[in-house]
Amino acid sequence: MLEDFDNVEMSYVTFLSKGYVSRNKHIFDEMELTPLTKFVLQSCVYGTPIFKLGNSGKKLLILSGIHGNELPPQKACLTLFNELIEVDLNNTVYFIPIASPKSTMNNERTFNSVDLNRAAHMANSLSNKIINVIEELKIDFVADFHSTAYNSNPGFEAVFSSKNPSPESFLMANYISDEVGSEIISFDVAGSQYKGAVEDVCNLRGIPAITCEVVSPFASIGKGSFEKSLEQMKSFLAYFGF
Ligand SMILES: [Zn+2]
Repeated sequence: MLEDFDNVEMSYVTFLSKGYVSRNKHIFDEMELTPLTKFVLQSCVYGTPIFKLGNSGKKLLILSGIHGNELPPQKACLTLFNELIEVDLNNTVYFIPIASPKSTMNNERTFNSVDLNRAAHMANSLSNKIINVIEELKIDFVADFHSTAYNSNPGFEAVFSSKNPSPESFLMANYISDEVGSEIISFDVAGSQYKGAVEDVCNLRGIPAITCEVVSPFASIGKGSFEKSLEQMKSFLAYFGF
């Protein structure tokens, strides 16, 4: 099947997380079913796929679906992936559009009752496996995309970052905040507030990372939220000169 996308490389983070994303009508009905999107969804039937585009410059990761019921960034990541296969890239972009297919299938926040954004520091958690792949692939920068409901945490459009030990986290967040208007939230030290966020664990391991949030009800795609998430993703790429 990959012959159709000869500039895309695909591998798996793990097979434990497999799921039929098409069973979640709240995202499936919102997708444009291009051949590439179908290929991503079929890959999810076997586990968590990671895709690579380009072969030069910095290695960037766009990650979404760490919380399976946060649908706008997952749709945005698929849309961006579809847009970028048409483009000659001056950097290397990795995509994990659906980090936990099982969670997205079930439209639920957790994976086997584990909040993956509080478990990235725990050996063998799905998010820890993602971090290990990030290290193995020598990915330079990570952006993790989420959505937040009005009455939840943080409850507003934001970019999370920290200044230590990876100060470029703050610089990336600052750029996106300026460009897109998302509020910046920055901590002095990564992981000081709580443990196990993908962003914090990356920053603590010396891989500058941010978390972007758009506002949307959980388990659905709120008006304007997909577009905003896509804007945040493009701004992350623009920081690197796309
Ligand atoms: Zn989230």
